[in-house]
Amino acid sequence: MAGSLKGKAAVVTGSTSGIGLAIAKALAAEGADVMLNGFGDAAAIEQERLCLQTDYGIKALYSGADMAKGDEIVAMIRAAEAAFGKVDILVNNAGIQHVSPIEDFPPEKWDAIIAINLTAAFHAVRAVVPAMKARQWGRIISTASAHSLVASPFKSAYVTAKHGLVGLTKTVALELATHGVTANCISPGYVWTPLVEKQIPDTMKARGLTKEQVINDVLLEAQPTKQFVTSEQMAALAVFLCSDAAAQLTGANIPVDGGWTAH
Ligand code: NAD
Repeated sequence: MAGSLKGKAAVVTGSTSGIGLAIAKALAAEGADVMLNGFGDAAAIEQERLCLQTDYGIKALYSGADMAKGDEIVAMIRAAEAAFGKVDILVNNAGIQHVSPIEDFPPEKWDAIIAINLTAAFHAVRAVVPAMKARQWGRIISTASAHSLVASPFKSAYVTAKHGLVGLTKTVALELATHGVTANCISPGYVWTPLVEKQIPDTMKARGLTKEQVINDVLLEAQPTKQFVTSEQMAALAVFLCSDAAAQLTGANIPVDGGWTAH
């Protein structure tokens, strides 16, 4: 139902690419003002921002805040509040991956993954919660992963961060249950985005496989449907979680993984 989020304002972290960009577009298509965030080519990001405004008649902003830095995260939320008057919807989506056997896992990669994939959500949530509580309405959505439910070898930091994100989400859901604010995780299986594409060479190395073998025997092997999830399917779920129909859906971790975690 186009326009269902008119008058709402959203911050979507990691929305210059992939799933986050699809979520930002879908929220804008429903009429929400949107703060984009993430890295990438400045001209391409500005183009996306302008397209959102002209295509959907909403206000779109961009923050280059680094999700590894708590002070920049809080400043991004304050900038969105100043520009939109409020933040009704927070989507914690920014994420990075590194694939390596644990004995070779670079400690700095571990720290970065925990910071960006887990601790960033803590900082963003603590920044938006007081005003959401005051308005008695809010939606907090975090992009976790099938790896929040099951592990795969060579992804120790990522699996740890995503399991942690579910714990944070459950806790926040309980704390805000009587305040009209829901908190949920959406957990994709494999979605064909730069994040997946970039881990193929390391997976080839770690497992001694060809690119085709990684795609068919590692990635799609996990998914009984044998198809990648699409970013648009993840975005449609995020829009649903923002609806009144989802007002009692809180503290959940919803898999969209072609049956992977049914195994
Ligand atoms: P992507 O690489 O296309 O997008 C990641 C986004 O995060 C980009 O906008 C990037 O600029 C941003 N980002 C990275 N580091 C950042 C930082 N320090 N500060 C701010 N922004 C930063 O990846 P994607 O596949 O769209 O991933 C989005 C989320 O979905 C991630 O949390 C990822 O773990 C999760 N996920 C993806 C898949 C998949 O198969 N693609 C599966 C499960 C979960």
